[in-house]
Amino acid sequence: MKRINVCIVGAGPAGVFAALFLAKYGVECTLVDKAKFPRNKICGDGISGWVLTILNELDNKLLEKLSKQPFITHSHGIRIVAPNYNQLDLPFLDSGDWDQSISPGFTARRIDFDNFMAEEVKSRKEVEFLEEEEITDYKRLNNKIQLSTKSGDDIEAKIVIFANGATSKFMKDPGGILKTRKYTMTGIKTYYKGITGFHEKNYVELHFLKELLPGYFWIFPLSDGLANVGVGLDQYRISKRHINLKDAMFKAIEEIPYLQERFKNAEQVSKVEAYPLPLWDRKRVISGDNFMLAGDAANLIDPVTGEGVGHAAISGMFAAKQAKLALETDNFSSGFMKNYDDNVYAKIGKELNISSKIPRFIKYPWLFNAVINKASSSDILRKKLTLAMTNLEERKELKRPMLYLKVLLGR
Ligand SMILES: Cc1cc2nc3c(=O)[nH]c(=O)nc-3n(C[C@H](O)[C@H](O)[C@H](O)COP(=O)(O)OP(=O)(O)OC[C@H]3O[C@@H](n4cnc5c(N)ncnc54)[C@H](O)[C@@H]3O)c2cc1C
Repeated sequence: MKRINVCIVGAGPAGVFAALFLAKYGVECTLVDKAKFPRNKICGDGISGWVLTILNELDNKLLEKLSKQPFITHSHGIRIVAPNYNQLDLPFLDSGDWDQSISPGFTARRIDFDNFMAEEVKSRKEVEFLEEEEITDYKRLNNKIQLSTKSGDDIEAKIVIFANGATSKFMKDPGGILKTRKYTMTGIKTYYKGITGFHEKNYVELHFLKELLPGYFWIFPLSDGLANVGVGLDQYRISKRHINLKDAMFKAIEEIPYLQERFKNAEQVSKVEAYPLPLWDRKRVISGDNFMLAGDAANLIDPVTGEGVGHAAISGMFAAKQAKLALETDNFSSGFMKNYDDNVYAKIGKELNISSKIPRFIKYPWLFNAVINKASSSDILRKKLTLAMTNLEERKELKRPMLYLKVLLGR
């Protein structure tokens, strides 16, 4: 039996950020992952500004190092395509927080990004990184948690950070979170080479196709002429509309004229893979006696954009802060661990809450078309939408019926 203070289950973004922040605070921990790195993670490969903000807080030299990696594609904006195929290009606003030579967003194949982060973890003496080890179960002990492992070498920890992703069994027990089909998206993705027509500044593209609303088809440009192509929609609508996501994706590529043109000389270079995205639906309790849930295991994915890497990084950071405090005060009670929930929600609760209201508007193709048409000719609306990507007050506007009424009335 290994007896330790902190065990982190899962070395995705939530787990590695927790481990790296603990290392920064001088707190030793054990990070366990069932995979051997580099390992694949099914994802759109979009790395949002939140990741850069948190990396900058962790270690700005590490952010600089990441930004220079050959597997990184610097992205400066987003292209939104409406159901009538009109498109709107919106630049990301630069963050004032870090070196302006670093772009406000990145794309990177997760196999590369996660491995870069895992290598960083391996360089920290405070972190014991156990690869190819699976946590199979947990048991409560007096003021501790015992974790069973596949190898049989069990672990006893004062604090456990469950960061083992969308299919974590610990989300339900001890987490108490039950998934619903309405708030679980299925995403599929594949890689293509040779797609044309990208924005010169590598804008990530969300194509809101009529049959997939409020979900979307995406194309994210990557290094080496690759692109991540995929679609995502919540499981409730998938089954209600009898949608086969793979068929829907290939049908769009083959039959929609502007996509047909862009994929004319493109070649699919990997198989299609699917994975769930546990979407945020409401503020839930994400901690308890001696434990915290982080990242997808805490259902922190943005319900509109499907972004989860940034929120995983944020929760990893706050889990580390809380673990440090709990060890200092020798208090591992659920009442005290709730500080963690409060910190996570103070940072992203409002943003998630606003996002959760937006699908009820974007599910109407005619309204979506009207907003994008209008924004193409209105500097004011375009500016509003650009700001809405980073500014919460502006994003709040997007859930107000009045905004859409004004757009329809041409004001
Ligand atoms: C198709 C698709 C597209 C997406 N596109 C984007 C995007 O473009 N941008 C974005 O920000 N987000 C995107 N997401 C969401 C994003 O991938 C997740 O939110 C993010 O990976 C969550 O990080 P995490 O650390 O919580 O979990 P993960 O990245 O899933 O990591 C969990 C880790 O835990 C390990 N593990 C699991 N069980 C155990 C166990 N029992 N014992 C030990 N180890 C274990 C796994 O091996 C894994 O390494 C997408 C998701 C999907 C499915």
